[in-house]
Amino acid sequence: MNLTVLMNSGPWLAVPPAGYGGIENVVATLVPELRSRGVRVVLAAVGDSTLEVDERVEIYPEGRFPLLQRPYNQVMGVPHAHLAKVVAELRRRRDIDLVHDHVEVVGPAVLSALGDEGPPVLHTLHWDLGKHPHFYGAFPGDRIRTNGVSRSQLERAPAALRDSALGFVHLATPLAGCAPVMDKGEYLVVMGRICHLKGQHVAARLCQKLGIPLVLAGPVGPVDDPDELAAVLDDPDDPHHANPDVRYYAGSVARYVDGDMVRWVGSVTGEERDRLYGAARAALFPLQWDEPGGTAVVEALALGVPVAGLRRGVLPEIVEHGRTGLLADTEEELAELLGRIDQIDPEECRSVARERFTPGAMAERYLELYQEVTSTRRRDRS
Ligand code: UDP
Repeated sequence: MNLTVLMNSGPWLAVPPAGYGGIENVVATLVPELRSRGVRVVLAAVGDSTLEVDERVEIYPEGRFPLLQRPYNQVMGVPHAHLAKVVAELRRRRDIDLVHDHVEVVGPAVLSALGDEGPPVLHTLHWDLGKHPHFYGAFPGDRIRTNGVSRSQLERAPAALRDSALGFVHLATPLAGCAPVMDKGEYLVVMGRICHLKGQHVAARLCQKLGIPLVLAGPVGPVDDPDELAAVLDDPDDPHHANPDVRYYAGSVARYVDGDMVRWVGSVTGEERDRLYGAARAALFPLQWDEPGGTAVVEALALGVPVAGLRRGVLPEIVEHGRTGLLADTEEELAELLGRIDQIDPEECRSVARERFTPGAMAERYLELYQEVTSTRRRDRS
């Protein structure tokens, strides 16, 4: 397709991310597929992004993720400064056919203010939409078009947003089609940022009760490494104590982490992540929220790892109960189901991922949306 797209990934993490990074992983998966289909991509991201693109726009040399969850005054300027740079770029040049935006709230707010001066915008909703009721509940969907990342996410969206959205595009992973990991371990794994929503405390409680080894992988707030977190927790004056995810780990998870049955390995990345994840007996998602997209879920399936979790958010849409995983309504039921998780065939998980969650399928769907957004805008202008 003969298009130039400004892909606005945002100011938080590099693309691809060095470890954890949900949205940045989506962008890193999508862009090569778009470019192989003839789309020119101008990436607006942070300076240490290494993704191959046609051009770059950046304001920050490195990701500002460590600032997230700091007080409002220390965080809010960051996406605004990033968007100011994007707007300056859009004003400077006229060759951008479409902005594909991934920046929470600030992206659509600023880009819609450009009005007819700016190119058409597709804003992908990566979030639990209950999180911003005052914004997404009131936001006029006529200037900025939106798409969700799952049916269940849009079903829970404020009515105006649900009605104006162009539908949803499931997340994908380049791991779909990779070789299977041969040496399976005995452990279960939770892959994701360590926070109450992802339910690591439930996973740890269950595994300890059942005597199943558990590995927790992912950052605790801005901290990637267990030794670093130990130093934080030892120092009562360390400012990280104010971080809600640090408080969650210290208050609800640390008591289970014995370094033997339950281990927290910090953030993992690249081949190390794929090996650790791919060798797990199952991936656990004891969700305490309605997870909207679930990159880590499709990654588990692609690696041939059955999924076990609570039936919430996107899980029932991605995981077929009894075929690619087991889903429960309560923690007690989940404990029971874990005894049967070995009945799920890893090869079946891989084959479903190869059918449903490939980067190519995601890119084709986005190209349809790009077409729709650019042609509606042309019609509006004529
Ligand atoms: N991730 C990673 N290393 C970790 C923990 C997570 O690479 O130690 C990745 C994980 O594989 C997934 C992403 O971070 O690609 C998390 O995205 P997801 O959509 O699952 O969660 P969210 O965006 O809600 O945090």
